[in-house]
Amino acid sequence: MGHIIDLHCDTIMECMLKEQGLDGRPGHINLEKLKKGGSMAQCFALFTLSNDMQDEHNCYGEVYDLYNRMYETFQREMEAHKDVIRQARSAEEILKNNADGKLSAILTIEDCIFVEGKMERIVEMASRGVKMASLTWNYENSIGYPNHKNAELHKLGLKPFGIEAVEAMNDLGIIVDVSHLSEGGFWDVIKYSKKPICASHSCARALCDHSRNLTDEQLKAMGETGSVVGINFYSAFLEKDNLIFSRDEAILKHMVHIANKAGIETLALGSDFDGIDCELEMKDYAGYPRLIEKMQEHFTDDQIDLITHKNFLRIL
Ligand SMILES: [Zn+2]
Repeated sequence: MGHIIDLHCDTIMECMLKEQGLDGRPGHINLEKLKKGGSMAQCFALFTLSNDMQDEHNCYGEVYDLYNRMYETFQREMEAHKDVIRQARSAEEILKNNADGKLSAILTIEDCIFVEGKMERIVEMASRGVKMASLTWNYENSIGYPNHKNAELHKLGLKPFGIEAVEAMNDLGIIVDVSHLSEGGFWDVIKYSKKPICASHSCARALCDHSRNLTDEQLKAMGETGSVVGINFYSAFLEKDNLIFSRDEAILKHMVHIANKAGIETLALGSDFDGIDCELEMKDYAGYPRLIEKMQEHFTDDQIDLITHKNFLRIL
């Protein structure tokens, strides 16, 4: 069975907005493409539509209601395709599903804006089987501040409730995801988290100067805390001002850099499929085998196992 655990996609949002099912839908990810590409488990993020995202997607409502609707979409898809894919709540369940010939779905959150300062909503997330949550998206929320091209705003740290949220997520078994977070918030998470963290879909800032990417100092801290970084396949995070085309060679460059700065045990895959609008050399999820083949020029088979699934299974 498959061997790839991909740490981030926005497919469930697309399923909700476009009334699609996971089988046969167009886009980067559907069940057929997951199987063809060699999936072991896919992290499916519930992306909270807030602020101008509601305008962009012509979908309006209270953020908590939209989050619940997206969760219902996830549940509906799991029920409809339970012969093919099952929600997994632990590394053991992923391995069991894999042995049974089933794909695994890991429920994650992109943007805790719907938490709105209410601890009970974090507890509810855990009861739903959420295993990882990005604290922010690109807006301020009750937890902290987003990445920002303005250096002063990028320095803003977690709010007092944000520190409590990190501690609660540690206790509840939810991995703290720092993708999209401000750099100040990142260092607060490093300081307050008692467990390894994750940047589910971020790249290296030394290779592409974008506030969504991690500096070498941040990468080093990720390595030292046993944390994991999933490489994002979005062209503009791989190569400066490239909004058009994601090249496999650029993905590989970021992989090699992160392995050098943070250690091979930090590196993972976080495509951002169905959330990125550039063309990709690998086209979609079914292109993974070709990318893995190219990875063999830089990494041993054991190292590729770490990158494709073992590093994330370790922190899960
Ligand atoms: Zn994102």
